[in-house]
Amino acid sequence: MPQYYIWTIGCQMNKAESERLGSYLEQRGYQATAAAEDADIIVLNSCVVRQHAESRVINKLDALKPLKKARPDLTLAVTGCLVNSEVEQLKKTLPYVDYFFKAGEYPPWLEKEGNLHTITPLHPSTSTFVPIMQGCNNFCAYCIVPYRRGQERSRPIAEIVCEVEQLVNRGVKEVTLLGQNVDSYGHDLPHQPDLADLLGKLNAIEGLARIRFLTNHPKDMSARLIEAVAHLDKVCEMICLPVQSGSNEILKAMRRGYTAEHYRRLVSQIQSTIPGAALSTDVIVGFPSETDEQFRQTFDLLAEARFDTVHVAAYSPRTGTIASKEFEDNVPLDEKRERLHKIEQLQEGIATEINQKLLGKTVEVLVEGRKKGKWQGRTRTGKLVFFSDSNDCLRQLVNIRIEKTSPWSLQGELV
Ligand code: SF4
Repeated sequence: MPQYYIWTIGCQMNKAESERLGSYLEQRGYQATAAAEDADIIVLNSCVVRQHAESRVINKLDALKPLKKARPDLTLAVTGCLVNSEVEQLKKTLPYVDYFFKAGEYPPWLEKEGNLHTITPLHPSTSTFVPIMQGCNNFCAYCIVPYRRGQERSRPIAEIVCEVEQLVNRGVKEVTLLGQNVDSYGHDLPHQPDLADLLGKLNAIEGLARIRFLTNHPKDMSARLIEAVAHLDKVCEMICLPVQSGSNEILKAMRRGYTAEHYRRLVSQIQSTIPGAALSTDVIVGFPSETDEQFRQTFDLLAEARFDTVHVAAYSPRTGTIASKEFEDNVPLDEKRERLHKIEQLQEGIATEINQKLLGKTVEVLVEGRKKGKWQGRTRTGKLVFFSDSNDCLRQLVNIRIEKTSPWSLQGELV
C-alpha cells in the first residue's frame, strides 16, 4: 500500500487541514507513516507567521533534499502559509519540490476541486478542530495570513452541523471551531447568520459534550455571542481574545481597529456575563517604535486583566506585510527579549495564583489520552489535568479532585 507522511507546524488551522488531507489520502488508498523515508508522498504544511517557524520549514526541506535526490519518484509537496502567489519564484528557489499548493486546498496532482475543509476526519481524536471559515479580511499591519489565506469564506451552518454529527458518531466529544476571526463568521452567507446562531445549532447535537471556538477579534466580538456562551450549556466558558498591545498608539499602528479602553470594557463584560470565564490572549512585544512607556501599558493591562494564559511573541517583520513596508524594525533584539521575559514572568505568577485556587476543588475533565503513565484531559476552562486510574477513561467526562497545581497544569485524583 502506498504511504504518505505529513509534517505540520503552525496554528490549529494547519493541524486541522493536515488531518483532513491525511483522511482524504486514506480514502484514496494511502496509508499514514511516521517515517518520511518510507513515504511515497511527503507534504510539509508550513507556517511563516514568525521567522522561527519559516526557518524550521526551510531546515526541514533541506533535510529532505537528499531523500528526494535518492528517490526521484517520491512526491514532495509544500502547502500552508509559505505558499504565496509567486509560486514560480518558489519553484526557482526550491527546485526539488514537486508541488506547491495553497493552504486548505487539495494537492494539485489529485485533480480535485474545492476546499479540504469539507473532508470529515476518519480517525478524529476526542477533541477535534473544525474549521468554520477560511481567510481573513482584516490586514493587521504585522500579519501575513490575509495574503496567504485570502478573503473570508464561511462554511454554511448545515454543512458544519452535518460534519459535527459525523464526528460525534466517530467518538468525538468536544469540537473547537476554528477561524482566523470567528466573530465575523457568516457575514458572507445568505441571511448572514453569526457565530451565536451556529453555537445554538451545535449545542443541540446529542452526544457532543463540549464546544470551544477561536480566535476572537476584540473589534468584532458581540454582546450576543457573550450571552450565547453564558447560556448554552455545552459551550465552554473559555475565551481567546488577542489584545496584542495595551498602547493605543501601537494598536493604531498595528491597524487592530480598537482601543485599550474598548478591550478593557469587553473583558469586564465577559467576566460579568460568563461566571468563571477563563481568558487567554496574545501579545506582540517590540513592535516598531514601541517605547518603554508603551510596553508598560501592555504590561499593566495584563496585570490588571489577569489572564489564565498569555501567548507572547517578539515582533519579527514578515515580508509583504504593511508593517514591513512602512516601519523600521527598530526595537533592539535584547530589548524585545527583555520585554518578552518580563511578560512571561508576570504571567507565571498570575497563572500560579489562579491555578492554586483550584486546590481541593473538584473539576470536570474530558479525558483525551495518556502521557507518562497518567491520564490527561482538560477542564471546561482549558486547564490541563493529569490523574492515575487503572480503568479505561479515554473519551470520558470524569470528576477530578485537584491535589497539586503549577502554572501550566494540575494533578488530581478521580472522585
Ligand atoms: S485578524 Fe489580524 S492577526 Fe488575525 S489573521 Fe486576521 S490579519 Fe492576521
